Amino acid sequence: MLLAEGNQHGAFLIRNCESQRGERSLSENPMLDCGKVKHYKLKKLENGHVFVSRARSFLTVQELVAHYSQEADGLCVRLGEPCKKMEAPQTHGLSYNTVDQWEIDRNSIKLLRKLGAGQFGEVFEGLWNETTAVAVKTLKPGTMDSEDFLREAQIMKRLRHAKLIQLYAVCTMEQPIYIITELMKNGSLLDYLQKDKGAMLGISDQIEMAAQVASGMAYLELQNYIHRDLAARNVLVGENNICKVADFGLARVFMKENENVYEAKEGTKFPVKWTAPEAMHDNKFSIKSDVWSFGVLLYEIMTFGQMPYPAMTNYQVVQRVPQGYRMPCPPNCPKVMYDIMMDCWKQDEPDRPTFETLQWKLEDFFDMDVTSYDDAARY
Ligand code: AMP
Repeated sequence: MLLAEGNQHGAFLIRNCESQRGERSLSENPMLDCGKVKHYKLKKLENGHVFVSRARSFLTVQELVAHYSQEADGLCVRLGEPCKKMEAPQTHGLSYNTVDQWEIDRNSIKLLRKLGAGQFGEVFEGLWNETTAVAVKTLKPGTMDSEDFLREAQIMKRLRHAKLIQLYAVCTMEQPIYIITELMKNGSLLDYLQKDKGAMLGISDQIEMAAQVASGMAYLELQNYIHRDLAARNVLVGENNICKVADFGLARVFMKENENVYEAKEGTKFPVKWTAPEAMHDNKFSIKSDVWSFGVLLYEIMTFGQMPYPAMTNYQVVQRVPQGYRMPCPPNCPKVMYDIMMDCWKQDEPDRPTFETLQWKLEDFFDMDVTSYDDAARY
C-alpha cells in the first residue's frame, strides 16, 4: 500500500501486526510502516507509553507520530503524510451471502482476465454479480469427481482464518467446475519472491511473511486439517505483503482421482522436493508432513523463490533425503531461520515442531530489534 501511486517519500501507515497472535488486540500491537520496506514495531511500556526506540517514549501514538514527523530521530526517514487508504479486500461479504447456498449460478460470474494456469486448470480474475471481485479457479474436466470435491468443499468452507484463502462458492453443476475464492492482488508467493529477485523485500518482510503462513497453518493444525501441498506456489499475496495459504485440502481430492499422478515418483507433478519422506514413501500425510513442507517453504522465502535442492534431481532427493541429506543454509539467511528449517526436517515426525510453536518463534524473531537481524545474525 505504501508503494501505491500518490504516496510520497515518508508516507507511513500504522497497522495491526499481521503476524501477531489473535489474543492480542489491535491497539496493543500496532506496526509503523514507513519508507519503502521498513517496519517498526510500536511497543508499550508498563505505564502505557509507546515507543519505537526505548530512548524516547510517548504518551500516545499520535504524539509519537507528531515527534517523528518533526525529525527522523533514528527512523529511516522523517514521517510525511499518512499513506492513502485503499479499499479493504473483501473477504466475508460474498461468503456471507452464500452461507447456505454456496452452489451458485455460473452466469452470475463474469470471467475478466486470466491470472495463471495450474496443474488442474486455469485461474481467472472474475466479477460476481457485476460487483464483487473474485478469483475463479476452473478445473479441467475429469480432474476430479464433483461429489468428492463437494464433500471436501463443505469442510473447506467452514475453515475461516485471516491467513487462509476463503472459499466463497462453487459451480459444480456443469463442467468445468468453478471454485470461487477471494482474490489476491499480487498472485502467488513464488512469483512475488522471484519478481525483481525480491529486491523490494527485506529480511523483516521475509520473516513476517513466514510468520503469516505459520499462523494460517496453526489454525489448520487446530482444526485437525492437513494441507498436503504446502509450498510458495500455494501461498497468495495481497496488499502490504499480506500472505494467505491457498489450496488446502485440494491435493487430497485430486490424489484420490489421480492416484497414479500423485504416486508417479518420476512425474513432475508430484511435489517431491516439498514432500516429507514418510509421505513420499508410505503415503503417510499428517500435519507433521505439512511442517516438513513448511521448512522447504522457508527455504523458498529465504532464497527469493529458488528451486529447493537446486543441484539435485527429484530422484536424487528421493534417494538422499531418507539417508539424512539436508539442504545447506542459504546465503544471507540468519542462523536462527536455518535452525527452524532444520527442525522442520527432523526425520521423526514427533521431533518436528508444531505450527503453533513455529508461529511464535517467527513472531518473536520478527519482534527483535530490526537492526539486529538486518545487520548481524547472518549465518
Ligand atoms: P493454481 O492453479 O492454484 O496453481 O493457480 C495458478 C496461478 O493463478 C497462481 O500461481 C496465481 O498466480 C494465480 N492465482 C490463483 N489463485 C488466485 C487468487 N485467489 N487470487 C489471485 N491470483 C490467484
